[in-house]
Amino acid sequence: ATPVGLLAGTGRASQLGILIRGPEVLEDTRTVDTIVLDKTGTVTTGDLAVTSVTPLQEQSHGYDAGRLLLLAGAVEAHSEHPIATAIVAAARERSDSGHIPEVTGFTSAAGGGVHGTVTDGSQTGHRGWSDPVPIDGQSPRDLTTHEGGLLSVAVGRSDYMATQLDSGALTAAEKQQLTAAEEAGATAIWVAVDGQIAGIISLQDTVKESSAPAIARFKEMGLRPILLTGDNAAVATQVAAAVGISEEDVFAGVRPEDKVAKVTELQRGGRVVAMVGDGVNDAPALAQADLGIAMGSGTDVAREAADITVMGSSLGQVAQSVQLSRKTLGIIK
Ligand code: ADP
Ligand code: MG
Repeated sequence: ATPVGLLAGTGRASQLGILIRGPEVLEDTRTVDTIVLDKTGTVTTGDLAVTSVTPLQEQSHGYDAGRLLLLAGAVEAHSEHPIATAIVAAARERSDSGHIPEVTGFTSAAGGGVHGTVTDGSQTGHRGWSDPVPIDGQSPRDLTTHEGGLLSVAVGRSDYMATQLDSGALTAAEKQQLTAAEEAGATAIWVAVDGQIAGIISLQDTVKESSAPAIARFKEMGLRPILLTGDNAAVATQVAAAVGISEEDVFAGVRPEDKVAKVTELQRGGRVVAMVGDGVNDAPALAQADLGIAMGSGTDVAREAADITVMGSSLGQVAQSVQLSRKTLGIIK
């Protein structure tokens, strides 16, 4: 291989909006036989929409859907996760002024959820928004315990939520509520107020139109597509079916650190693995893969960890970049 030939290949790549870290990357594109795809933001648009907010009757203490959304939105305003973006947009829509309350002490757990302390309306010009209202005749929770109207609010998945609850665990009845929402095909997450479960927010994502044709192309190129996601199995299976990934190649509920472990496991099994992702959470797996590919529409952290970055947001460009790299090697051999 001549360096000149390789650079010509990468030059053509940059014309197509494909950034290749270095000439040595091209060789890896030839040997890969497995392509691991992150779901949210990679196979799907990641432009989620809130489809429902469900206060849990027994535990909600009078926080109705609108208030739960506002509380969750206030905390999620400090997160860049696609789930956060969707909840904030919905909260602003529901709020009369488009204004959402202030939050202090924000913390987040990657692939888990977020927590913060929400201050009440007296500071935000929305006095009373956090006052509880009765739901179906249940008496609202007494808020007088909240000096200055401070509310501890957590939003996230089950295992994260368990760490945020006073009881340290979800009840069987609560788990059943989330399962029901997930079985309806939604990405469902918990909202807890002051250490107790208050409700569920359901969100829906959209599969990119370009994903199914691109995955068909991967298969033609001899690459086995695998779907890897932190989201629930019901949603992951539906997305996989829509884009032509077989059910046994779906790995759902995978935490960020376990995404790396999954890539390593495939490599130990003799596979040469390309990983495609866009999120901060995907970065370690992108680095571990034999070939890391970042979506240009994703985060800086993902791009820094990757060998190849495709501009824009289409998996079609990923297929094109692998094809182009292979062709370049063919020419210069
Ligand atoms: P994916 O692999 O689909 O990109 P992540 O690993 O980023 O998903 O997140 C996995 C899960 O963690 C989400 O489906 C959600 O349940 C939870 N989660 C992560 N970040 C947040 C957040 N900011 N707010 C609420 N839930 C979150
Ligand atoms: Mg993602």
